[in-house]
Amino acid sequence: MTDSNLFSLLSRAQSLLDKGFATLPLAPSQSLDSQAAEILNEAATRLHDNYPYEHPLYAGQMLKPPHPIARAAYALAMSINPNNHALDGGRASSAMEIEAVAALAKMFSWPQHLGHLTSGGTFANLEALWIAGQLVPGKKIVASDQAHYTHSRISAVLGLHFVSIPSDDTGRMDLVALEAELATDKIGTVVVTLGTTAIGSVDPLDRILALREKYGFRIHVDAAYGGYFTLASNLAPQVRAAYDAIPQVDSVVIDPHKHGLQPYGCGAVLFRDPTVGHFYKHDSPYTYFSSKELHLGEISLECSRAGASAVALWATQRLLPYMPGGTFARGLESGRNAALELNHHVAADTRFMTPLSPPQLDIVFFAARDPHTTPTPESSSALAQRIFDQAAQLDLHLALANLPIRFFPPGSFPGHSTGTVTCLRSVLMKPEHFEWIDPIWQRLVQATQEALRS
Ligand SMILES: *Cc1c(COP(=O)(O)O)cnc(C)c1O
Repeated sequence: MTDSNLFSLLSRAQSLLDKGFATLPLAPSQSLDSQAAEILNEAATRLHDNYPYEHPLYAGQMLKPPHPIARAAYALAMSINPNNHALDGGRASSAMEIEAVAALAKMFSWPQHLGHLTSGGTFANLEALWIAGQLVPGKKIVASDQAHYTHSRISAVLGLHFVSIPSDDTGRMDLVALEAELATDKIGTVVVTLGTTAIGSVDPLDRILALREKYGFRIHVDAAYGGYFTLASNLAPQVRAAYDAIPQVDSVVIDPHKHGLQPYGCGAVLFRDPTVGHFYKHDSPYTYFSSKELHLGEISLECSRAGASAVALWATQRLLPYMPGGTFARGLESGRNAALELNHHVAADTRFMTPLSPPQLDIVFFAARDPHTTPTPESSSALAQRIFDQAAQLDLHLALANLPIRFFPPGSFPGHSTGTVTCLRSVLMKPEHFEWIDPIWQRLVQATQEALRS
């Protein structure tokens, strides 16, 4: 959908929305004068100072443009600006939020749930760990050293003791290390990451479930990044097995603003046991009088929340339902194929080194080397930085990440087996990335030739 198409659809929907309030007497409206036009133009010019996030040659960080229907639905709802705290502030958008969250629960094959949208993955994880701390007080939270750094910070905020579990050489939680920690009998909750932020590695949830039989603990799945990949049909068997275990966990977080085509401000937390809702109980003296129905503010730690986020997510789900084999699922499969394809090119080129594990989702990373010298972490890191800069000159925008040397085959950096190396990293989140792998690869090769000359 082009932007002009978006604006014409939006304008028709806006007239329809306005009709619903047409019986009201005319109220003074705020008009935008020429000064406003100047200010907006100034904002537009200032916004040039960004990477071209929506273009397939932007293949760097976790940034995926929202779908036009999400933009249109968000803008439409914004004209009313509903607040999904109490039903007084957003009746329709609260109902849409409940339906949108139910669609997420259904995608994970959960028979029942309690959940809501949040401002993002950070707050969603905070709520999950808060409930975990309430249910198993005094016990520790563990997550792998590749888990999002938010978990150790959130644990500190909540006053919960946090322990980091080493990851193996493919970036997955090391189960021997986990079991050693579980044997201390002090672990209340294991945070399992399905799709780490740095490299998209997927912890072996199925095998962690087997450990739960023996030791008993809560499982929280942080699928802020990778949750939607449960719909993809092209995952490796180990990764598939982890996703297929999601119905058995206690809570899950997923970010519709990462892979779900939503504007920022859209995370979600789901609990499998709806009775955890009583922990949220509070007595607000001024809300919740309009109805005996559930007000989302009664099951959320954040109070005011954008109803527009719920409307945007609901509309996107109507257009692109969460169905294996559907358009949305095929978009994820395409990004994953793009990652495998780029990894394939990189692996065959002596100027690069690929890690032990091929991409588990849609994130590729690799180290750079001068084929005529023995690579050291320092020389490789400096070369990666130069390639990154040169690629940007060619409109190809990648990312850099400091990653453990042990992620690479032994001997990749003779004399070095510990420490980190700065790698080039590419998150291939857009369905179009697959079609663009050749132009991306050509620019990467050219940037590397120039970096090696300089
Ligand atoms: C992005 C991310 C988070 C943090 O979510 P925000 O939406 O950025 O607050 C947490 N965990 C994982 C695995 C993530 O990828």
